[in-house]
Amino acid sequence: MRVCGGKRVVKGIAIGRLTFYQRQKAGRPEQRPAADVETEIRRFSRARVQAVRELETLYRRARREAGKEKALIFDMHKLLLEDETYLEGVERYIRQERVCARYAVSAMGEILAARFTSMADEYMRARSADVQDVTDRVMRLLEEDGTEESAAETAGGNAADACGGPGQEPVILLAEELSPSEAMRLDRDRVLALVLRQGSVNSHTAILIGALNIPALVQTDVDFLPEYQGMRAVVDGIGGRLILDPDADTLSELEEKKRQFERERAELSALIGLDNVTAGGRRIRVHANVGSPAEVDLALQNDAGGIGLFRSEFLYLGRDACPTEEEQFRIYRDALLKMAGKRVIIRTLDLGADKRAGYLELPEEENPAMGFRAVRVSLSRPELFLAQLRAICRAAAWGRAAVLFPMIISVDEVRRCRAMLEQARESLVREGNTVGPVEVGVMVETPAAVMISRELAEEVDFLSIGTNDLTQYALALDRQNPSLERLYDPHHPAVLSMIRMTVENGHRAGAWVGICGELAGDTSLTELFLDLGVDELSVAPSRILRLRSAIRGFPR
Ligand code: PEP
Ligand code: MG
Repeated sequence: MRVCGGKRVVKGIAIGRLTFYQRQKAGRPEQRPAADVETEIRRFSRARVQAVRELETLYRRARREAGKEKALIFDMHKLLLEDETYLEGVERYIRQERVCARYAVSAMGEILAARFTSMADEYMRARSADVQDVTDRVMRLLEEDGTEESAAETAGGNAADACGGPGQEPVILLAEELSPSEAMRLDRDRVLALVLRQGSVNSHTAILIGALNIPALVQTDVDFLPEYQGMRAVVDGIGGRLILDPDADTLSELEEKKRQFERERAELSALIGLDNVTAGGRRIRVHANVGSPAEVDLALQNDAGGIGLFRSEFLYLGRDACPTEEEQFRIYRDALLKMAGKRVIIRTLDLGADKRAGYLELPEEENPAMGFRAVRVSLSRPELFLAQLRAICRAAAWGRAAVLFPMIISVDEVRRCRAMLEQARESLVREGNTVGPVEVGVMVETPAAVMISRELAEEVDFLSIGTNDLTQYALALDRQNPSLERLYDPHHPAVLSMIRMTVENGHRAGAWVGICGELAGDTSLTELFLDLGVDELSVAPSRILRLRSAIRGFPR
């Protein structure tokens, strides 16, 4: 038996067999003609730069943890990615064969690996595995950057394949790290629990994993030893541990803990249909944060009072082109229909930082969290923005819709967003389409938005406080950086004062105010939020009933 510590991101206990997440095992992708050769070359170049960055990080970590000699392997991989012959080879392949970047990288990888395999020297022969490793890394990054194949078509490079075929026993998935796009593709029915060696509790990946509602750990102190593959294990997502090959006593203790957890969950379902009201009669709305149509179903199952945040950008990830107006319209309309008159707040595209869609060709940035993201992207790409706003206006005819603009820092931005919304509506009406009314809100997730929250509130119907980014920007702490997690404190008095200020300013201007960041589900603060007069808390569907239970337990 071996016990490995980790940080819990989703509560629960899972018992099953470990499977390594095999993102690197993608076979040669289908040969697809490049729509535009120069675009494919740029995609390759972006993926290469990103791969070099990853390898530098791995080198530094390996050097620190395992010594210089062991770390050299990553340096060698990096050298290949800087080798002119290799780079020119891939580019030439794309140009001459007019194929997509993934295909060219895979083909060049095969050619090079075969060259090493045919060498007499044993050491050189072994280098073919390194070529494969580097090739797989670049291919994965190309896939995350916006694939030319759909996720379902990718041979072996996704989580579903890592878990074996349909009908096979679900597994505990062990991965180094997952990107938001990869997390999007995890198949809930085939994964019992998720264990990441890296990862951060505040990342979008963690939020996406939370939506799957399976026990999950990040920063787990476990190695990828071959003998662990298929080994029986327990993910203790309550105590923050991964137990490999548990002995009989530990197993029965954890089985009991699991039963206890499931009993508590069943008890929570008795709260379905009840109000979010304290014993003293104070009420608050509890709505759901979702990022996909499947999560709308989860919101309903957990008795959400509405959708407080539909993270629409997740619809743009893991694919090779933007969802069309028509596609978006159908998704939003179905969500509104399912929610049957309950408010659905659709946040417009919040791409950028860790949420990357390669086909948008956003600029490479030194500091993307502070860079070109959210409405900054939407306002600079009117065709993209209008398609989304038109979809929302059309869907609004089918229910109670609201639109939410992310990362706002000025009144001018709000006015420009509203003008675009008006333009979308007018164009639809001119074309004879049916549109519905759309309430308008802005995210308060930058200190600037807090400071001008009174002025912002005068422009809109509601404010929604995004505590994840607000904490990041107020404390100048990258929410993605695991080494800063210790300092990333949403309970910091500065953050709490900002929440108070926003609620007061919003109410003075006649707007309602909600919280949709992760802090909304933190029951140690619920009483404070009630005292402040927060109107709505929006949380992951799995947290709704727990929050309701806490609210109903407050005496006042
Ligand atoms: C937030 O920043 O709190 C928020 C809700 O937005 P996201 O987590 O998607 O950035
Ligand atoms: Mg945010």
